[in-house]
Amino acid sequence: MLRPLLADFFGLFFPQACLACQEPLVRGEQHLCTTCRTELPYTDYHLLPAADNPLSRRFWGKLPVAHTLSYLRFLQHGRVQHLLHQLKYQGQQEVGRALGRLDGAELAAAELGPEFDLIVPVPLHRRKLARRGYNQADAFAEGLAAALPCPWSATALQRTEHTASQTQKNRTERWQNVATVFEVAQSAEVVGRRILLVDDVLTTGATLEACGAVLLAAGAKTVSIATIACAE
Ligand SMILES: [Zn+2]
Repeated sequence: MLRPLLADFFGLFFPQACLACQEPLVRGEQHLCTTCRTELPYTDYHLLPAADNPLSRRFWGKLPVAHTLSYLRFLQHGRVQHLLHQLKYQGQQEVGRALGRLDGAELAAAELGPEFDLIVPVPLHRRKLARRGYNQADAFAEGLAAALPCPWSATALQRTEHTASQTQKNRTERWQNVATVFEVAQSAEVVGRRILLVDDVLTTGATLEACGAVLLAAGAKTVSIATIACAE
């Protein structure tokens, strides 16, 4: 009985806030308040036919993708942006793990768990990794891996060059910027496997496309994609 009492005691002085809306959490709530749990803009793409959801269409003619999934819609100045900001810039890796576990539980309930052999997060360059201290995509991968369940590897893919920021570039420039910077470190890890490639946000898809192409070239059986959020 000591631990719950202590948790209540500390909760009085340091109430935990919802990671999305920052309202204090009440007893029984973890990471997200009940309102946000209900109202977050879920895509529910995992409930649509795999080859025909709005996200899979973005990869048509560019990369063969088995499943194209995203947990949430990214809207600027909203709760999803706040979540991603916490994960990426405020050191809150737990946001990624918690969203990974929630998303993974939904994918498992839709019987998608057995569709994947290995989860591979989009890697950061080692200099950026050293600066931030962690890869936000790893946190999401870890949560998904626990809930699906499915093994994950932070070392299967490597980013070999430090790329310029993507934000000021158009689609073609983004593709040229990332096309040659990823490589498979150990092809034995991916050969014949159905890979679930994961990242925090899908915008143009250029980075995921580059990673997916490298995985298929190294012998992966199929590539699927899952992100925390996707921009419209
Ligand atoms: Zn909330």
